[in-house]
Amino acid sequence: MTLVSAYVAESAEAPLAPGTVERREPGEYDVQIEIHWAGICHSDIHTVRGEWGPVPYPLTVGHEIAGVVTAVGEKVTRHQVGDRVGVGCMVNSCRECEACRAGFEQHCEKGMVATYASPDQDGSVTQGGYASGIVVTEDFVLSIPDSLPFEETAPLLCAGITTYSPLKHWDVGPGKKVAVVGMGGLGHMAVKIAHAMGAEVTVLSQTLSKKEDGLRFGAADYRATSDPATFEDLQGQFDLILNTVSASVDLNAFLQMLRFDGALVTVGVADQPLSIETMALFANRRKVAGSLIGGIAETQEMLDFCAQHGITPEVEIIDASQINEAWEKVLSSKVRYRYVIDTSTLPAV
Ligand code: NAP
Ligand code: ZN
Ligand code: ZN
Repeated sequence: MTLVSAYVAESAEAPLAPGTVERREPGEYDVQIEIHWAGICHSDIHTVRGEWGPVPYPLTVGHEIAGVVTAVGEKVTRHQVGDRVGVGCMVNSCRECEACRAGFEQHCEKGMVATYASPDQDGSVTQGGYASGIVVTEDFVLSIPDSLPFEETAPLLCAGITTYSPLKHWDVGPGKKVAVVGMGGLGHMAVKIAHAMGAEVTVLSQTLSKKEDGLRFGAADYRATSDPATFEDLQGQFDLILNTVSASVDLNAFLQMLRFDGALVTVGVADQPLSIETMALFANRRKVAGSLIGGIAETQEMLDFCAQHGITPEVEIIDASQINEAWEKVLSSKVRYRYVIDTSTLPAV
């Protein structure tokens, strides 16, 4: 075992504090990574605050990890010491079930091993990326293309793939009209990626305060959901609505904006069950669906797509000591648009 520096949650209420987590010695298929950058995802906050069920405290969160390989097990073939690599929301799965074999490790029939708060194969609880190092089996380690700026890559490992996957699955491309609800970490990536795929993108944000940014990211239109006229004007407009909001939304109001055969796909996690009027579904044969991150091969495809199209998240680099303050800004929608922790600022072990 090796101890690495980390920021640790001891309870739902206490601020995260400096501490350590244990990492295993690399096994024959393992990659040991020195973490350089760790993105802050809203899911980290939902988890630590106990919104998704019991939490195995003490817990280190973080599933947007970019770092450099420092050691590899003797059977590792995919990565070498010195490579720039990424780790996202999963660190393992059974590899044998139908979902795993089809590249949907996130839907593994035995349950994926999440990067944090998940039972690991050795019985310990996985610990995430607000840390100086991690050890991950090679198949769950992504290669970061050379052209992507290192400090801006980490958020692609969750915010990037979580928006890329449904945009791809619902055939977003030229001639398609896409609305992105909520322009935070996930939402701003959705705008950039959908625009790069060739779609016409509209942002549906609570206010117009980020309109200039949205248009700069590639949106053709930007509307406030606080204005009732938005829902009048945009009835029957969109092929796909991607909901990235971290709270409850009025699905029925958004459903009215779908055109024939359109889909409303939610990746944002509501704080309570959402209701749907069945009549709102019948008209235009509308669909409501969800989407969970993306598989490993698709995550690599997304990284390569972003490199090819020059797409990177808008990041604000912070020191470890600013993590708690950053969480408050995420909660109040003041994030522009992803905080990334410079893990070299973690106190030494
Ligand atoms: P974020 O940066 O906080 O962005 C969420 C955005 O939602 C905010 O910027 C805001 O956008 C809007 N919003 C927040 N509170 C709202 C409210 N009360 N009413 C209406 N709009 C509100 O969060 P994120 O990191 O992008 O994550 C977004 C959600 O996706 C979270 O619930 C997270 O857990 C979830 N998630 C899901 C997956 C998956 O696989 N499905 C993966 C990662 C994250 P505006 O200011 O533009 O209105
Ligand atoms: Zn995430
Ligand atoms: Zn499986």
